Amino acid sequence: MSAVEPGAHASGRAGLPLPWLGEPLRQALATRHGHALLIHGPGAVGQFELALALAQAWLCEQTSLPLAERPCNACPACRLVAARSHPDLMVIVPEALRESLGWSGDAGEGDDERDSSKKKPSKDIRIEAIRAAIAFATTTSGRGRGKLIVVHPAERMNPAAANAFLKTLEEPAGDSRFLLCSAAPDALAATIRSRCQDLALTVPARTAAEAWLAERGVDAPEVLLAACGGRPQEALDWAESGVDATAWRGLPGRIARGDASPLRGWPLARVVDALQKLCHDVAALACGAEPRYFPRASLSTGAGVASLLAWNRELSRLAVDVEHPWSVDLALESLVERSREALKTPRSGGREEQGLSLNSGR
Ligand SMILES: [Zn+2]
Repeated sequence: MSAVEPGAHASGRAGLPLPWLGEPLRQALATRHGHALLIHGPGAVGQFELALALAQAWLCEQTSLPLAERPCNACPACRLVAARSHPDLMVIVPEALRESLGWSGDAGEGDDERDSSKKKPSKDIRIEAIRAAIAFATTTSGRGRGKLIVVHPAERMNPAAANAFLKTLEEPAGDSRFLLCSAAPDALAATIRSRCQDLALTVPARTAAEAWLAERGVDAPEVLLAACGGRPQEALDWAESGVDATAWRGLPGRIARGDASPLRGWPLARVVDALQKLCHDVAALACGAEPRYFPRASLSTGAGVASLLAWNRELSRLAVDVEHPWSVDLALESLVERSREALKTPRSGGREEQGLSLNSGR
């Protein structure tokens, strides 16, 4: 994951951490004036970074610049945002994301939430954090340009948190604004969505995304970009965790031979995701369509469509439950063996209906 450094560069709009956010930022500054904005998109395409850039623009004290050209990245307020210490900006992220995003979390979750080192960091946004945000919103702005609260990812608010938040969205406090980021807006309560202005991000243009990846040292960026459905941040994340274009290209052949080794060490969610993509592409080829995630030359044809559909159903069920504490190794071997079967050229008496059996291994 790239570090978020709003204002880390000195040159105005060029200071955006993700260059494809320039136009959405301009549009949002010109047209979104409400007290709550929902920034959403297909997967992570810069929602959080855009929310921070918007917050910085609204807090920016270089008032000689038109709003559309802020943030200036040079005034005291911009420097405070860059240092993550602006008194009027609160960023709420789940504990599990704080480190990777570089926000230590001023979300008011007390020691009782974190005192136990054996406890896994929470992936939820809890009511304590939302209560802290509501209290923050009602206090007077320290530097006089309003208060900004970023909630990311908003769909991680647990039901109690979402309910507490709803009341604030109905009766906003003073000069506070809420920026909600989401990669799954359908998972948000309709009552929350309906109280927010809407800003939809799309995947960036392929050339811009490839250039951004190439600048960060990713070889054959077009391969990983396609592997990640056009989402460059995810592609960079994969590259930084050791997945390269050669490994991705070689994956279909290895899976077809029942070789699980290229997937070892991957989080189970990514394994299931990769297998779903492989299943999609082989099925697309079988139907005469273009593959989407793998280079065509890396895929072999011949698998039966019925077998692929059955495999796809099993993977979809697994995808819902990838946080389950299976033994990853056992799950991986099972998955790859099942995948090898699904990719075989069909014979009579195939095993389309045979499901996966994953041992819990605990
Ligand atoms: Zn500024």
